[in-house]
Amino acid sequence: MDTRRDFLRKMAVASIALPILSIKHKSGNKNLQNHNGQVLRVAIMGLGGYASMVAEAMRDCKSAKLVGLISGTPSKIKNWQRKYGIAEKNCYNYENFDEVRNNPDIDAVYVITPNALHHDQVIRVANAGKQVICEKPMGISAKEGQEMVDACKKANVHLLVGYRMHFEAKTLEIIRMRNEGEFGKISFFQGLSGFVIGDPTQWRLNKALAGGGAMMDIGIYSVNGSRYMVGEEPIWVTAQETKTDLNKFKEGVDETIQFQMGFPSGAVASCLSTYNMNNLDRFFLNGMDGFAELQPSTGYGPIEGRTHKGPLTQPHITHQTVQMDEMAGIILKGKKPIVPVDGEEAVKDLKIIDAIYLAARTGTKVNLV
Ligand code: NDP
Repeated sequence: MDTRRDFLRKMAVASIALPILSIKHKSGNKNLQNHNGQVLRVAIMGLGGYASMVAEAMRDCKSAKLVGLISGTPSKIKNWQRKYGIAEKNCYNYENFDEVRNNPDIDAVYVITPNALHHDQVIRVANAGKQVICEKPMGISAKEGQEMVDACKKANVHLLVGYRMHFEAKTLEIIRMRNEGEFGKISFFQGLSGFVIGDPTQWRLNKALAGGGAMMDIGIYSVNGSRYMVGEEPIWVTAQETKTDLNKFKEGVDETIQFQMGFPSGAVASCLSTYNMNNLDRFFLNGMDGFAELQPSTGYGPIEGRTHKGPLTQPHITHQTVQMDEMAGIILKGKKPIVPVDGEEAVKDLKIIDAIYLAARTGTKVNLV
């Protein structure tokens, strides 16, 4: 029996049971003005593999609690209701989830469905007046991403993206060291992101649902990582695609892409995104006075790493637990994360991914500014 977990669960329930106070919310968000400001009450949409991990991790959250479910599979809803004690009135399907607008017991919806579905689902949640958390990639193009940002702005709700590494302790230590100049002038970043994908019939290999291939799913970690490790926005990209299995990786589904980026300071990045090689989860940041290395760099952890000063020893905490507590702080208390996790941040990644695909297709250097 995990007593700490039980204790935390009871504490979370106790704080939810507090009377709702009519305090003006620090976030200034009209949809949260009557919230007690303590615990973000979340419904998860799409009860698949990653959602299961998020739900388990949320058991240990102090400031976020799973209270609702949105699914196309009635049997999953029943199982999850039993497992997490979810009330029937907080359960929806993909046809009726707009009705969440009339449910005062749900503050936010966390969209964890296949990539190409995020755009419409996020906009529907925003139009229902609920806070939105969405998995990466937020959409399947920068155009989609911008429409999602605009819809959430118009509805006056937050749009946060599941960039769990932005809260990871060793990653944040490297960012602190870089900001304090401990690596000197940054010159180079290498990001390697990949694994061998299995079942050829899964949605990740279906362009209509995935929006692409490895780049959308795993390469995005090197795209996003290059930005938070270097601490600048890239100004150009070049890219080369290779495909060894035309049956598994059909038109529009990338298997392997190598890409390079240039940054305003003159720093450069060299990255690999693949669905056909294992053991690729590594970041390396080089400066004139030192370096940082993370391997694994973006897996579920523990993340391992070292710098020129020695090993990184920050403790591992389940990424999704930290992420959801921090996101509750952003939404309920107006907290500012060290590395942004908002929709605009995701649009920056999507613009780079659009440019990488264009560079790979045309064999040209694509300018981003
Ligand atoms: P899964 O296939 O395991 O789950 C997706 C779920 O979405 C399904 O179980 C289903 O739930 C729902 N769904 C709705 N429509 C469809 C459809 N047409 N086809 C398939 N599923 C559908 O995927 P993951 O959980 O691995 O990935 C979901 C999202 O999470 C992706 O965007 C992915 O990139 C992201 N992700 C993020 C990770 C991270 O570390 N941040 C890690 C892994 C994934 P139901 O039956 O309840 O409707």
